[in-house]
Formats: sequence, structure tokens, C-alpha cells
Amino acid sequence: MSSIAIDLGGTTIKLGIVSNGIVVAQTKLQAATDRTIEENLQRSCIVIRELLEKKNLLQKELAGIGISFPGIVDASHNRVVSDYVKYKGANQFDFDKWVSDEWQLPVVVENDARAALTGEWQYGAGKGCDNIVMLTLGTGVGSAVLSEGKLFRGSHFIGGSLAGHISINLHGVACTCGYFGCVETEAST
Ligand SMILES: [Zn+2]
Repeated sequence: MSSIAIDLGGTTIKLGIVSNGIVVAQTKLQAATDRTIEENLQRSCIVIRELLEKKNLLQKELAGIGISFPGIVDASHNRVVSDYVKYKGANQFDFDKWVSDEWQLPVVVENDARAALTGEWQYGAGKGCDNIVMLTLGTGVGSAVLSEGKLFRGSHFIGGSLAGHISINLHGVACTCGYFGCVETEAST
């Protein structure tokens, strides 16, 4: 079975088609973070449909869509729960409804660091390991923890988030989150 993968990054949106754990097609878009989450997802759709066409894949052959988001995510309800978000309106956005209207497929929304950890755990550097700490260095600095074979989420969905917005330099530059000298502003790409 094949699935659609959408990784909403702070700078780019990475899009892919994954078949049985292998990325068979991928591309990326510039993230328009001044636009709403819905506008960004609509732009992504156009590109995904082109990828599917190139791979001769029909919508009915797809198992679902995975969306990774750079923020706090309640994965059991597919909702973004951060107050501060890199995509406008993401914390009010109904991903289930959008995917159901647009694709008629199941969807999973997850924090980007946890999604990256899951990928490495199932198919990459963490294969066969039950305890993993993942650090993602991108536009932001993210982290996630797998403990005894279970993703650590915590009761407020921030379990395993170890770094990004901890201030490490009070005289540092202002971060987009409102603090100064966050790990992200001091050390991200
Ligand atoms: Zn910050």
C-alpha cells in the first residue's frame, strides 16, 4: 500500500509518496508561513496529485495521509494545540475534515520530531531499538523520545520536547515565540 507524507517545515514543505516503507517519489515547496495552513495544504495537494499521476497511482490505492507539524500536536485528535504556530490558523484547523473532504482517506497528524523518530525507528537508524532520543535540526530544534517501544507524549503532548524554546542566552536575539535567545534562535540551521 502507498501513503502520502506531508512534512510541514518552518521553511519548506516536504511532500512524498511512501510505498511499503520506501519513499518512491518526493518533492518540496517553499512554505508560505504568512498564509494560512489551509492555503499551504491546498498548494501541497496540487503537487501531490502530480506525483501520484507520475507514479500511476490512483487515490483508491492509497492507505492514508501522514502530516508532520512543527508544533505541539494532540495526535489522538489530530489537532495542533500550540498557542504559537508557524502556520496561520493551524491551532484552529480541522485536519480530519480537510483530509476527508479533499482525499476521503484516513489521516494521522503528529509532531514533526516524533514523526522523524518514528521513521528512523521503523525504517532507519533506530531499527530494532526500543529506546531512542531524536534531535531534529532544521528551521527549529525539535526532539522526541521513544521509551520501551512507546512514543513518549505526556499528558500535555509535550513529552520528549527537550530543547527548542528554552532560553540559553538572555541577551540573544528575539525568537518568534516571544522569548530571547532560544535554543532555536541560537543553534538551528
Ligand atoms: Zn523561542
